[in-house]
Amino acid sequence: MPTAIFRFYEELNDFVPPERRKRDFEAEFKGRESVKDRIEALGVPHTEVDLILVNGESVDFGYVLQDGDRISVYPVFESLDIRDVTHLREIPLRETRFIADINIRDIVRYMRVLGLDVYYDPSLSPRDIIRISKREKRTILTKSRNLLKFRDVTHGMFIRPGTTVEQIKGIIDFLSLREVITPFSRCLQCNNSLVRVSKESVFDRIPPKTRAFCNEYSYCNGCDRIYWKGTHFDRIKKVIGEILGMEKFQDA
Ligand SMILES: [Zn+2]
Repeated sequence: MPTAIFRFYEELNDFVPPERRKRDFEAEFKGRESVKDRIEALGVPHTEVDLILVNGESVDFGYVLQDGDRISVYPVFESLDIRDVTHLREIPLRETRFIADINIRDIVRYMRVLGLDVYYDPSLSPRDIIRISKREKRTILTKSRNLLKFRDVTHGMFIRPGTTVEQIKGIIDFLSLREVITPFSRCLQCNNSLVRVSKESVFDRIPPKTRAFCNEYSYCNGCDRIYWKGTHFDRIKKVIGEILGMEKFQDA
């Protein structure tokens, strides 16, 4: 049987037996097997994995194992700074999620327009924000340096002064999120994912004027809202264009 050397990092070690924790170990695999299948066979759910290096290079889940490979596997909510390595990838394996501090409401709306998952509740205390960040593996976005100084904050980003467009651009570029952006896929009010629905299914709830010019509708299961590309659309589109650059937005 072919074999590969595996090593799991940080909290991924919770999924493997003690003798395999935080060290290299050899594991056999079947003739043609993806790195994802072998990682799961070793006990680690793929949803927990952010980065896989094979012989030092980042690969996708579909990578087919070769005899003698050396595999390093890093968690979604990495405690190590692996940002530079992650940049080798066009699309991060992880789904980056956020929780926004109460003082960045303006950013939240446009991040959601871009389809990014941003938890926001103005009634939260700093303690609540940190707790939810840890529980749901969300990166804290804040303009407060003090919040980021709490000892148990593991993932936070300080939002520098600037326009909303500059600030969102900063977040997207820093975390390499450009390729995962899907505009108009998330509810601006409650952060749920939207689903496409037919015009007929929401017909009674659309203003007659809108029915006449719009055929595409989305629905939020979270708060029962219907979305369409109405009169605000051009203004929103302009802002997205500024954030992403127009070419990217054209195909969205
Ligand atoms: Zn909603």
